[in-house]
Amino acid sequence: AEQSINDHEVAAAKVRDLVTQLNGWRTQYYDQDAPTVEDHVYDETYRQLQDLEAAYPDLITPESPTQAVGGTPSGDLPKVPHPIPMLSMGDVFSLAELKDWAQRLEAGVDDPVAYNVELKIDGLSLSLVYEQGRLVQGSTRGNGRIGEDVTANVRTIASVPQTLPEPLDIEVRGECYMPKAAFAALNAQREADGAPTFANPRNAAAGSLRQLDSKVTASRQLDTFMYTVIDPATYGITTQHEALAFMAKLGFATNPTAIVAEDLTTIDDYITAQTADRDSLAYGIDGIVVKVNDLALQEELGNTVKVPRWEIAYKFPAEIAKTVVRDIEWTI
Ligand code: NAD
Repeated sequence: AEQSINDHEVAAAKVRDLVTQLNGWRTQYYDQDAPTVEDHVYDETYRQLQDLEAAYPDLITPESPTQAVGGTPSGDLPKVPHPIPMLSMGDVFSLAELKDWAQRLEAGVDDPVAYNVELKIDGLSLSLVYEQGRLVQGSTRGNGRIGEDVTANVRTIASVPQTLPEPLDIEVRGECYMPKAAFAALNAQREADGAPTFANPRNAAAGSLRQLDSKVTASRQLDTFMYTVIDPATYGITTQHEALAFMAKLGFATNPTAIVAEDLTTIDDYITAQTADRDSLAYGIDGIVVKVNDLALQEELGNTVKVPRWEIAYKFPAEIAKTVVRDIEWTI
């Protein structure tokens, strides 16, 4: 018993350290659009915290990043409530973990489960609201429940329709991203101007969308892929794959690579093919997303405080192998 009290104290101190460390990185990443560590470092540290909290659930606090989505909505931009929260996503880092996730999910479901498999676009989430077919609001995820109003900025994005072909009341959600070429040009310009460069296209997109002056946003060549229809049943949509086709018909940009997979082999093949194509894409991806295709089943499975239970991100391995190999060569 003495040993376990000691273990608990050690774990508590470690949890406090990890929470402080991760929350510091989150402020830099989400609020300042300027991360100081690479995503894989964040992800590995987050995993350590998750594992400790799983072993000692009494150490979970509301301040823990495992209980929170995103960052703090900027005080500079008007706030927008999200009655249907914009959540984060669980992640796995190997096929074995993906298989475990699918098996656990399918164990609680009677019928075979089909998945819609999509690319995980490396940008930031965006919500678009239309009334009578007219764009009335664009907002960021913020902390999931309260986002930032970026309507004027969103109106400068060429792929966002200002009006729809039908006078629909609808909210759609998706990803706002900066194409690789625009990112390279922007950073080259900033370097020439002596301005600080952006760490990666994701942070450049976030910094560009969360501007006070929409002329700046307009100059940044942002683009979008939409992937979620809110209240899909209203429009007679029953699967995620149909939702993508529906949005494409309305004039939204949707990613053309999505497939429906009935088994893990198909998902594995998709991962192999997309990994091979990754460098040739005009936009960055950091993994693939596996979603239960049946929207009624999604609803049934529901969400945790932070992530939907019906979807998971398979994250690509960190691109550090080359650097490590080069370091070793140098030391030799
Ligand atoms: P996430 O980015 O891992 O996944 C959720 C997001 O994926 C969604 O909100 C959505 O915007 C996006 N997405 C892209 N394509 C999608 C698709 N096809 N379907 C659905 N969603 C799609 O989760 P998060 O909570 O936004 O961010 C956590 C991640 O951010 C971490 O895993 C880490 O990599 C990174 N991060 C890094 C730092 C750092 O300091 N480097 C700090 C905090 C977070």
